[in-house]
Amino acid sequence: MNCTRKVKIIATVGPSCSDVAILARLVDAGVNVFRMNFSHGSHAEHEARYRAIREVEARTGNPVGVLVDLQGPKLRLGVVPGEEMAISPGQKLRLGLESEAAGEASLIPLPHPEILAVLKAGSTLLVDDGRVRLEVEACDGKEALVTVIAGHRLSSRKGINIPDIELPIASMTDKDRRDIEYALQAFEVDWVALSFVQRPEDIAELRAVVGDEVAIMAKIEKPSALQRMEEILDLVDGIMVARGDLGVELPPEKIPGVQKTLVQQCRGRGKPVVIATHMMDSMVSAPVPTRAEASDVANAVYEGADAVMLSAETAAGQFPVESVAMMARIIDEVERDPLYKTLLDSARPSHEGTPADAICAALREITRVIASAATVNYTSSGFTSFRVARERPNSPILSLTPSITIARKLTLVWGVCCVLVDAYDDQTSVDALVSQAAAIAQAMGLASRGDYLTVSAGLPLGEPGRTNMLRIVTVK
Ligand code: PGA
Ligand code: MN
Repeated sequence: MNCTRKVKIIATVGPSCSDVAILARLVDAGVNVFRMNFSHGSHAEHEARYRAIREVEARTGNPVGVLVDLQGPKLRLGVVPGEEMAISPGQKLRLGLESEAAGEASLIPLPHPEILAVLKAGSTLLVDDGRVRLEVEACDGKEALVTVIAGHRLSSRKGINIPDIELPIASMTDKDRRDIEYALQAFEVDWVALSFVQRPEDIAELRAVVGDEVAIMAKIEKPSALQRMEEILDLVDGIMVARGDLGVELPPEKIPGVQKTLVQQCRGRGKPVVIATHMMDSMVSAPVPTRAEASDVANAVYEGADAVMLSAETAAGQFPVESVAMMARIIDEVERDPLYKTLLDSARPSHEGTPADAICAALREITRVIASAATVNYTSSGFTSFRVARERPNSPILSLTPSITIARKLTLVWGVCCVLVDAYDDQTSVDALVSQAAAIAQAMGLASRGDYLTVSAGLPLGEPGRTNMLRIVTVK
C-alpha cells in the first residue's frame, strides 16, 4: 500500500476496466476509490464490477473505497424530429411536452412538465453541454417560445442545463431511489454521491434512505448549491467539484475561482473535497495528457484537494492504467515540492475549541519540529482521522481501526492510510496501543529504529469524537 502519497485517486469504472485483472492494475497504479457511475450500465453490470473490486481488495489486503454516484435529475430533450435538426442563431423554436409534440413537427419535445412550469421570459436553456444556447421569449407553463442565441444543431436526448432558476425538483429521482436501494442491499456502499444538489433538503432526503453509516458526497454542479453551501456542508461528509455540469451552468471562467473557494471551505470543515471531470480528458484516446491537463491535476493538489478523479479516462478510455499512473506521478511531484507545504500552511484553517482539535494542532506541529515518521491514530468512527487530515501534517497519517467500513470510508481522505487492527476495548492499555502502533508502522516500512512516531487516541477507546491522548514514541 502506498502510504506516502497524500492526495487520493478516484477512478470511474466502466467498460474499459471491468475485470479483476485490469482493476488490480489500476489499484497498483494508485487508485484508492472506485466510482460506480449509475448514469450508465445495468444493475447486473454494476454488481459484477463491484464483486471484482472487492476481489482485488481482498487480494491486496488494503481497503478500497466504493463511491456510488447517482445520476440525479439530468434533464434531456426528447426525440427531435428526424433525430437531428439544423438550427441557426436568431431562429425561433417552440419547446413543449412530448405528448403535444407527437402530432406536431414544429414542436421540439421537452419531456419535463415541472421545468415548463417554471420557465419564464429571459431564462436561458443550455443544450448539449452548452453547445446550444436558447433564450426563453415566453412560456405559458406548457409550451416555451425560445430564440436560438448560439448553436447550429439540435439532436435527440441531449442534456439540458438551466442555470439561472432554482428548479422545483428534488436531486433524488425515482431512478436514483431504486439505484441506491439496490446498491444498499447488493453492496457495502462506502460513499454515495448525489448529483445536481440544489438545497440542504436534497441531502436530508438521501440521508433518510442511506442512514448514518454511508458517507454522503454532494456533487456541486448547480449555481443554486453555491448559494447555500454552508448549510449543505453541515449535512454532507464531503463534496465533489463536478466541473462537467458546473462548467456548463456557470461561465467557464468562473470555475477556477469556485473550485478554490470550495476547497478552502471543505478544508475548514475537515470534510474531503474531490476535484472531478476532464482532468486528463485527452487520455481517453492518447497515452499522454496535454500540458494543460497535467497542470490542472497539479493545481488541484497545490490547492489542497483531498482527491482527484478520473471519469471517461478509466471508464471508457483506451489508456486507463496509463491515466492513473500519470495522475499518480503528477501528485508525487507536487508533494515533493516544498512550495506545496508552504501553500498548505498558508491556508491552514482555524481550530474549533475542542480537545480533539488541540491534539490535532499539536500533531501537525510535532511533524514539523521533530520530523516524526508517522502520525498514528486509533479511530473507531473515523472522526480523529478527518480532524488530523484537516491539519495536513507532514508525515503520513496511519489510522488504525477495527472497522473495515471506516477504513474504506477514509480511503478518499487526504493523507490517511488505514490498517485494520483487532477490536479494542476499554481494557486495552495505552502501552499496548503504543507498541502495536510502532510495530505496524515498522512493518509497513513507514518507520525504523530510532524514528519518532506520534500516537493519538480517544480514551476510553471506542467512544467516537473523544481524541484526548497523545504520545511521542521512539521506535525500538
Ligand atoms: P457526471 O458528474 O460525470 O455524473 O456528470 C460530474 C460532473 O458533472 O462534472
Ligand atoms: Mn454532472
